[in-house]
Amino acid sequence: MSDCLFCKINNGDISADILYQDDDVTVFKDVSPQAPVHFLVIPKKHITTLNDLESDDEALIGKMMIAAKNAAADLGIAESGFRTTMNCNSDGGQSVYHIHLHVLGGRQMNWPPG
Ligand code: AMP
Repeated sequence: MSDCLFCKINNGDISADILYQDDDVTVFKDVSPQAPVHFLVIPKKHITTLNDLESDDEALIGKMMIAAKNAAADLGIAESGFRTTMNCNSDGGQSVYHIHLHVLGGRQMNWPPG
């Protein structure tokens, strides 16, 4: 999608601190980290919100989770633990409308989330 920020990161039009990339996903550091470790996992395919997922996306979502746990291990937060979050639409706190998995770690997370 031409006017999507995360599509532009996927295709290199906007730079990001990329941790991992393959044919299906890109993993990069969040520009405004909310924890000592905070990165995002996005699909190469433009999917606007979780509401737009289709059954064909099942494997892609799995790949996003595998990329998340691999990057968490690479960054040394696998054993201490981490939080994964996908925000959907306004009440969920979504601000970028291309689905993304937040991975946060390096500090104690609180529950319930704000
Ligand atoms: P959400 O509010 O769940 O949609 O999350 C969007 C996230 O994208 C926020 O945590 C932002 O800090 C992050 N973000 C926005 N622009 C960029 C960018 N250019 N590079 C990296 N992260 C970004």
